[in-house]
Amino acid sequence: MILCANPHAQYLSHKSEIDDAVARVLNSGRYILGQEVRAFEEEFAEYIDVAHGIGVGNGTDAILLALAACGIGQGAEVITVSHTAVATVSAIVMAGAAPVFVDIEQDFFTMDPSGLEHAITPRTKAIIPVHLYGQAVDMEPVLAIAKKHGLPVIEDCAQAHGATYKNGRVGSFGAMACFSFYPTKNLGALGDGGIVVTNDSSLAARARMLREYGWAERYVSHIKGRNTRLDEIQAAVLRVKLRHLEQDNSKRVRLAGIYDRGLAGISRIRVPEKRRDATGVNHLYVIRCGERDELIAYLSEKGIHVLVHYPVPVHLQPAYAYGGIRDENRSLRKTEQTAGEILSLPMYPELGEETAQYVVDEIRRFISSKHPETELCLLKETGIR
Ligand SMILES: *Cc1c(COP(=O)(O)O)cnc(C)c1O
Repeated sequence: MILCANPHAQYLSHKSEIDDAVARVLNSGRYILGQEVRAFEEEFAEYIDVAHGIGVGNGTDAILLALAACGIGQGAEVITVSHTAVATVSAIVMAGAAPVFVDIEQDFFTMDPSGLEHAITPRTKAIIPVHLYGQAVDMEPVLAIAKKHGLPVIEDCAQAHGATYKNGRVGSFGAMACFSFYPTKNLGALGDGGIVVTNDSSLAARARMLREYGWAERYVSHIKGRNTRLDEIQAAVLRVKLRHLEQDNSKRVRLAGIYDRGLAGISRIRVPEKRRDATGVNHLYVIRCGERDELIAYLSEKGIHVLVHYPVPVHLQPAYAYGGIRDENRSLRKTEQTAGEILSLPMYPELGEETAQYVVDEIRRFISSKHPETELCLLKETGIR
């Protein structure tokens, strides 16, 4: 069985270092907000090239805290995309604000900046671009529009640890940025975890208070806060994995190259486009195919497990469906079309180049068996029968 993601393989490839790090925490006697969390916050902030990191319980809470730190709650509208993990929208709603959706650039699967100005109202209080599948949003126009309207940008970087845009890493562009360390992410813990990063020291101080009961000093709440802390064991694991992140990301990119080369010439498959002046980290490798559901069934028979990220756009999910959300949201044509065509091929650093090639071969076999006339010469050229 070839899995779509495989956090166990990630653990095994760094096992002895991780085991040592966990043992170090167990023997330290300090399990919450000790030196591992502090060190990881510094190391991760340095990696992204920002001044502050605040470790939290998960990526959803990271977005919730960033919104709260920026003073965004009841009565506010927050612009984002519907083509994202539901967590982005869940955090906005949990903060008390209303999500307003703009459509995506279909070639890149990310926020289309040309839809932004139209979505801004006097109630708009923030924009959350999502760097989906490991690729940066086109940040320059997003930042320009946000600046023109005096709106903070909060980046959702949960799928893009290490991705770059122009001359910076994603997470270094917005007023604040949020990462998840869910086990399958490019930087994944062995449990839940997340972080908020920022260059603004007063926003950092607010986020730090908000993650622990609103405390400025112990036992005295200065603002109303919650409890969402990154724990010492996860921080110690993340410190190990951060040291391998660049190499693990480059393994993903190499695998993506095999998929690109093997699938790009097939007319019925669309491989993901790469943004110029940006380097992606292939959190996922997402293709579009009109015969998506048949292809999934075929691959599943061959022992290849693929997933759909995501089958139902957030604005069509029962909890967040239209109604109460503004009319502009009704024209999410590309978002809705994309959801019916996409599938995510197996993608994790330990997948192996031969396995990726096997996935390519099976997809080609599927296409050539369904459309013998159109695809035959292409398949002959590469020697696949
Ligand atoms: C994973 C993810 C999140 C939330 O992360 P959790 O740690 O699972 O709460 C938010 N946004 C996106 C785009 C994600 O992929």
